[in-house]
Amino acid sequence: MKFNAIDSHCHLQLAAYDADREALIEQCRASGIGVIVVGTNKETSAAAVALASAVPDGVWASIAVHPGHVHAPHHDPQEVVAPPPEEFFEETFFAALAASKKVVAVGETGLDYYRLIETPGHSIASIKSRQQANFSAHIAFAKKNDLPLIMHVRDRGDSSAYDEAINMLRREYGDQVRGVMHCFGGNQDDARRCLELGLYLGIGGIVTFPPRKGEEENPLAAIVRDLPLDRLLIETDAPYIAPVPKRGERNEPANVLIVAQKVAELRGMPVGDIQRKTAENAVRLFNLA
Ligand SMILES: [Zn+2]
Repeated sequence: MKFNAIDSHCHLQLAAYDADREALIEQCRASGIGVIVVGTNKETSAAAVALASAVPDGVWASIAVHPGHVHAPHHDPQEVVAPPPEEFFEETFFAALAASKKVVAVGETGLDYYRLIETPGHSIASIKSRQQANFSAHIAFAKKNDLPLIMHVRDRGDSSAYDEAINMLRREYGDQVRGVMHCFGGNQDDARRCLELGLYLGIGGIVTFPPRKGEEENPLAAIVRDLPLDRLLIETDAPYIAPVPKRGERNEPANVLIVAQKVAELRGMPVGDIQRKTAENAVRLFNLA
């Protein structure tokens, strides 16, 4: 199958698509959009693999326990119908899933220092260390299974989650890591350090957002302009973070073309070249057959 574009990160398996999932997959296949369906916990990882396995080509899966699920998981009805349990990486469960050829990555995993919810008996420090242990288990699993990492790293702009994640990756991999920082939202220095490690940056709907008060332009614009073309991936993170002009709506993989358009504008390139190059990058990073 030849791809017009690849949405390197979406969540078509989630509850948000229970009514029209099949139709959206058909639409992607008809328009040549490949999709990587990313798990967030055991239930949604298994569902991602089932979804990818039900389609002959163009749909792949990634499996993991998201850092937001290791402590006091908040219930997003778009994600799962019933409130999710607190979870931690379990090797036997994920090893069974990884036996499928459709599993092309380990993620989304990483550190989320943006949304830290203190509860009785669980200090912020203890929640962070539990997230680190969960991330570390995913790193070991990715290495063992020779799979790239899809990482969610987020903080409140102080680079604390990037500092920690980069330290952990250096410790485990040395100086070259196979993976992507999904929905990259860090600053220029975070970007530089990720690129040094050999990582790809996943650019999503945030790149289409207008600058915030006091900003001349969206800070992601400069990062996207300077990014080496061979490290650039595009993504939707659907159902989340729909790009302008669909902001606030349920996001869909087809909107990856809107992200491609914005990236093309910023780099002064034809949109078709951005779609083609980013699809080639996804095929290379995830070893897509
Ligand atoms: Zn995601």
